[in-house]
Amino acid sequence: MLLITLKTDNEIELIVRACEIVAEVLDQVEGQIRPGVTTAELDEWAEELIRGHVGARPAFKGLYGFPATLCTSINEEVVHGIPSRKRMLQEGDVISIDVGVGYEGYYGDSAVTLGVGEVDPEVARLLEATREALMRGVEAAQPGGHVGDISAAIQAVGEGAGFSVVRELVGHGIGTQPHEEPQVPNIGHAGQGVRLRPGLVLAIEPMFNLDGPEIRMLEDDWTVVTADRKTSAHFEHTVVVTEKGPRVLTAVPSKAS
Ligand code: MG
Ligand code: MG
Repeated sequence: MLLITLKTDNEIELIVRACEIVAEVLDQVEGQIRPGVTTAELDEWAEELIRGHVGARPAFKGLYGFPATLCTSINEEVVHGIPSRKRMLQEGDVISIDVGVGYEGYYGDSAVTLGVGEVDPEVARLLEATREALMRGVEAAQPGGHVGDISAAIQAVGEGAGFSVVRELVGHGIGTQPHEEPQVPNIGHAGQGVRLRPGLVLAIEPMFNLDGPEIRMLEDDWTVVTADRKTSAHFEHTVVVTEKGPRVLTAVPSKAS
């Protein structure tokens, strides 16, 4: 039996606060992305920014033993890359930055994939499709609908653009825990799965690969890479289903999406 909790308005206010800090971190970190910066520098900087907010802390640090504030996943790394002093960004790289924040016992989670300077046009198209899939997935999170509506919308964008969808890793419920039920797969069928009700808070997170869908785990037991070592992209928002439709909580106020 799934343990799915709908959040009260008071709880959603705290999740909103956590998500505002998440959005601030991603917006600020984006400004630090350039050739020569190490992923450890990005991580330290993000942790300081989060801890500067009273009541806030990095949600991933220590979660299942993860050692850092950010997941920094470069090029063929899909998710869960560990920040390192030895990992320096280079022109043409793409980096997925994933961050979670805990605030007064509530959580927000978001990710973006960013190019470092000029990236290959096909890689740029991969990023655009993954971002587009996230927005289509969000729009599908309508009250009275099903989780499969979100999954199908994401899958259609990814496959329609000629990319492959990572199957083993999924979005999730979020709120009083960083990861809650239900799972939100990036492939599926509209009309199937858990019913979407007002107060349901979800982290929707498409992961698309340039070529094959298969993934592997590196020896650090964290970093997930594409089996063919081709580039992968990942975007994520925390969203609440309301009576009026989906509301994105991790959007940067100064940006359209
Ligand atoms: Mg995340
Ligand atoms: Mg997540």
